[in-house]
Amino acid sequence: LPPSPQNQVVLFASPGAGHLIPLVELARRLVVDHGLAVTVVTLTGMSNPATDAAVLSSLPASAATAVLPAVSLDDLPPDIGFGTLMFELVRRSLHHLRALMEGLSGSPVTALVCDFFGTAALPVAAELGVQGYVFFPNSFALISIMRHIVELHGDAAAGEYRDLPDPLPLPGGPALRHADLPDGFRDRTDPVYAYLVEEARRYGRADGFLVNSFEELEIAMAETFKRDAEDGAFPPVYPVGPFVRSSTGEKADESAFLEWLDHQPKDSVVYVSFGTGGALSVEQTAELAAGLEASGHRFLWVVRMPSLDGNPCALGTVPGDKDDPLAWLPEGFLERTSGRGLAVAAWAPQVRVLSHPATAAFVSHCGWNSTLESVAAGVPMVAWPLYAEQKTNATILTEVIGVALRPAAAREEIAAAVRELVVGEKGSAVRRRARELREAAARAWSPEGSSRRALGEVAGKWKVALVSGNGRIA
Ligand code: UDP
Repeated sequence: LPPSPQNQVVLFASPGAGHLIPLVELARRLVVDHGLAVTVVTLTGMSNPATDAAVLSSLPASAATAVLPAVSLDDLPPDIGFGTLMFELVRRSLHHLRALMEGLSGSPVTALVCDFFGTAALPVAAELGVQGYVFFPNSFALISIMRHIVELHGDAAAGEYRDLPDPLPLPGGPALRHADLPDGFRDRTDPVYAYLVEEARRYGRADGFLVNSFEELEIAMAETFKRDAEDGAFPPVYPVGPFVRSSTGEKADESAFLEWLDHQPKDSVVYVSFGTGGALSVEQTAELAAGLEASGHRFLWVVRMPSLDGNPCALGTVPGDKDDPLAWLPEGFLERTSGRGLAVAAWAPQVRVLSHPATAAFVSHCGWNSTLESVAAGVPMVAWPLYAEQKTNATILTEVIGVALRPAAAREEIAAAVRELVVGEKGSAVRRRARELREAAARAWSPEGSSRRALGEVAGKWKVALVSGNGRIA
């Protein structure tokens, strides 16, 4: 390959740290391992600029970033829903993306990579004559669900959608119960359903997918997709994960947590967190507290403001200055557990907590980043899914991958699951599986590992595109 000019890849992130974090990690690898130039593009609105900036700061110095101008969403109904709003924001920003790409100087652009909410940008890639890829910040299983809705609704006129079968059989995966489908897929009358179908219809146009999973994590699914790519039934899906962020954007002083952990015995602490948007009800908070207390084990609990309106997703709500999440814990709980439990407000340095030797288990909302972080650290999980695709993740973690237990949200069951995972006999199989997967995750990115090779294959296509005459923006 000619050493210069380097080719350039544009990575287009949808709002939210959960989407930006793995995309930035992908960008970092493209620069460091493959010598490509990158521009990471973010949107204005629906995400916290300070958090975005902190995440972007882990990019190598040579990487460029760009923020698209704001677009108006004022005409949309206030109760439109977070997913729908995200799809609309992307859609309305496309002309800005196109203008930005046309104006990029420096290395010639050979590929545009969008994420789950961004496939409306694939036609822009085609118009500009660059390769269009989708970075899927989630599992093979979710791609499989997206394929199903197209198969079911491929010819349906807008609005004529049927319910997905219950359970929904996923080739190479579980038969997914209706209740465990991601939000938006359970109810065909939800406005976001039409967006999801439209989104999924565009998948066939992608030159390929990169998925934040790895072969050994979803082996049967990975094989199914490989066969389908060989048959030309679906674009190739390259498992390139786990991408676990290298730097964080933490909002709290890390040292206090880590020092506390340093003083706990090995494999003794249960870490509890529900991600950046998860909110328990007051009742669930009380059950979890009672469950942790009854388990008798040590814990580190990241407590966030409870949901008072029953909505488990608090994304986009900014807590007031006077809000104190710890004040919502049951009376006397902190005193009774003092010495063996640490409850902290809002935020903990999760990647470092999970990889700390004292950490034994993770009570998690099963967000995909949290899932991969736990898997990479070899920590078994108690699944407590709340919204989005978390119930789907919980299903594959418990029923296919075998790295989690999923108790009902009641104190006795929580206490039992925690005990099993930390010291119990039944939990030993789950602990063993977690250790195996930690090794497998490390293998995926070892010098000859499957994920490293897969990303190398794709990066190779992006490097040579220029040589074959494709991919210049005229
Ligand atoms: N996170 C963290 N500290 C916290 C809560 C979350 O570091 O107290 C990080 C976590 O490590 C993960 C991300 O925020 O990288 C959450 O992403 P995930 O996909 O798990 O869930 P989401 O927040 O998107 O629901």
